Amino acid sequence: MKFSEFGQQLTCNAGILSLMDDLGEAKATGGDNMIMMGGGNPGVVPEFQDLLRKRLRDICDDPCQFHRLIGAYDPPQGESAFVAGLARMLRQELGWQLGPENICLTNGSQTAFFMLFNLFAGRYGDGTKKKICLPLAPEYIGYADLGITDDFFVSTRPVIEKLEDNLFKYHVDFDKLSIGPDIGAICVSRPTNPTGNVVTDEELARLDNLAKKHSIPLIVDNAYGVPFPSMVYGEATPIWNENMVVCFSLSKLGLPAVRTGIIVARPEITRALASMNAIMSLSPGSFGAVLAEGLVKSGDIIEISRRLIRPFYQQKMERALAVVRREFAGVPWRVHKPEGAMFLWLWFEEMPITSHELYERLKRRGVLVVSGHYFYPGIQDEWRHRDECIRATYSQNDDDVARGLAIIAEEVKKAYGLE
Ligand code: PLP
Repeated sequence: MKFSEFGQQLTCNAGILSLMDDLGEAKATGGDNMIMMGGGNPGVVPEFQDLLRKRLRDICDDPCQFHRLIGAYDPPQGESAFVAGLARMLRQELGWQLGPENICLTNGSQTAFFMLFNLFAGRYGDGTKKKICLPLAPEYIGYADLGITDDFFVSTRPVIEKLEDNLFKYHVDFDKLSIGPDIGAICVSRPTNPTGNVVTDEELARLDNLAKKHSIPLIVDNAYGVPFPSMVYGEATPIWNENMVVCFSLSKLGLPAVRTGIIVARPEITRALASMNAIMSLSPGSFGAVLAEGLVKSGDIIEISRRLIRPFYQQKMERALAVVRREFAGVPWRVHKPEGAMFLWLWFEEMPITSHELYERLKRRGVLVVSGHYFYPGIQDEWRHRDECIRATYSQNDDDVARGLAIIAEEVKKAYGLE
């Protein structure tokens, strides 16, 4: 059967597909034989699940709430009470000058990126073609195949700062970053998946100024960010203004299955997204909005993120890093300073095999990671660094993560001929 160009674009060998397939395969077989350090599944935070379980029971016991949960289509902008409550909370807690008209819900934030990227990049009516600029590579694998036209992204290599204790940090290379008339929007994930980097307040302010200067939006992917789920282990100020599109998600709080994305933007943009929601799916699902409404209205979502979610992941990160320091002794390893999210980004400089080959060898040993080469949408030139890094998720059981890291260390030693 022949598929259209659109069909081909969305059925090609996408990195995100292989990642989600790996996850699905492991889930189907019970995941017994695999150490899952590949995907972006959040960990289980028992106190958070208890809270949600109670909330769900209360909803089920109340016929009116239960009907809201399952019995009615929401407007294409998303569940109205949730949207209004969130706008009020963001105004009160963060001082953002916005109202319900600045918010649109989507079925997961991944869907929002598909809509936003194709809203601002691709072919325009005047015959011009625009791209999405990712100012800092490596960047989220899930963006790579979202464009429905080709040649969709442009990205810039980072400045690499080598730090003490085998750490390093990427910075935006503002000397190389050029925004021309062919750029439709700038997008950055903060914290960044895959590296755990947190773009500094100063870098974000500079990107914001650049975007304003060129009259294009700055999209900030806040899937792991502040003030919720707050998987940030240093300082980061949450900012929004009329020129920014800030994308939140309920997934990393512990609700990836409810598929709720939250977009904060100027009304012109939220209306466009609501229109796309209506065309593609009539309305976004109500489940996440009804379930989380109380947490959002009370502001508890912020308190829970700070008190439960952040320490949960920070401890996991510290434990994983300690294992890396122990197991990788004698190997030329580096890890990106883990400032947020749930990943260690390991760099093996001058490794004799590629990161993809390492991924294959690890899979055969029962450890799933993600090869780093997938995370460079928009980087065209040859760059050895692309094939020298892997992403290892530390959100799951600590003992499994430790065993997985030990196996990774064994395979890396073999690759360098150190064993
Ligand atoms: N953005 C980043 C950086 C992510 O890591 C993910 C998921 O892993 C998403 C967006 C999409 O998340 P969701 O569609 O579950 O909201």
